[in-house]
Amino acid sequence: MKIDSHRVEIEETCKPEYIEAIKQYWALENNEFINKSTDLAKAFDLTAYAFSAIVKKESKFCLQIECDSCHNIETVQVKSQTNFATVKKDSYYSRTNKFNCSKCKALIQQQKLEVIEKQKQYLLEKQYSAIKNKNWLVLSPFELKVLRCIIKNEGISNLNYHFKNTSIKVLWSAIYTLRDLCLIVLHSNEDSNYVNRVTFLTELKTTLPEVEAVVKNEPKAKLNNVTQELKLRLTKNKAPKNGDSPVYSGVLNFPNDVLIEKGTQYTFGIWKREFDNLYFTLIPTDNIYQAPRQQAVSSQPKHLRDAIQDFFDSSEFDF
Ligand SMILES: [Zn+2]
Repeated sequence: MKIDSHRVEIEETCKPEYIEAIKQYWALENNEFINKSTDLAKAFDLTAYAFSAIVKKESKFCLQIECDSCHNIETVQVKSQTNFATVKKDSYYSRTNKFNCSKCKALIQQQKLEVIEKQKQYLLEKQYSAIKNKNWLVLSPFELKVLRCIIKNEGISNLNYHFKNTSIKVLWSAIYTLRDLCLIVLHSNEDSNYVNRVTFLTELKTTLPEVEAVVKNEPKAKLNNVTQELKLRLTKNKAPKNGDSPVYSGVLNFPNDVLIEKGTQYTFGIWKREFDNLYFTLIPTDNIYQAPRQQAVSSQPKHLRDAIQDFFDSSEFDF
């Protein structure tokens, strides 16, 4: 902030004994006041508050400030040091690192509003085309569930509750995907990345039943790198510490995600392998027996048992 000049004006009503202290109160060096009212008040056995009240009543500080943007000189009057700090703060624009006069400040504010309005229009258009193009069709079932939850709850405030078993990172990755696809808009404070609000078009709400249907009918073939068969080798625990130690234990990593769904019938099998190890597999029964499930279970149980036996006898399990 460039202060061109400054002066103290003291009222005629001011008691002479306060004049010097008031001048000291307004002593400015490098744009900072060098004396505090707390210290100045002591000489008069006054509180800082009472002294400040005298300063306010009996004086004013007039400054000629040069605008960093248009270089016009603006006259500013303040009644307290705090008042000056506020003027300083209000005229500072962090983006350009400049102190601006009130005219330039208003102009910046106007420009900001125009940018916000343009951005709003741009996001609206993007959201309309996202709905038109059914952008949700490219989402994973989980991302669709998150979208549905956002729509139902009118925001993200309940997400942590609904997805309490999901890591925050995974949840936010889904939220950002929804944003990138312009299905939702994330609003944050100007000076932080903290998302305080989520909005979406009312039109997206009307598509909710359609979105729900997609979540339920997500074709399994769409899942990448997911298998429905769980296969693992159970290693015999060679040195059990006591009777409570597990008979089989170990650690393992799966090369793919394994999807186990409720309501699906599974068949499991366990084989003995070398060194007393076991081989365990769990597989959807439909994968073994290709006939429609209802017919297989209700009318041809024997046939199903044979099919399972054949499947387990096959070389696929020979490892
Ligand atoms: Zn200016």
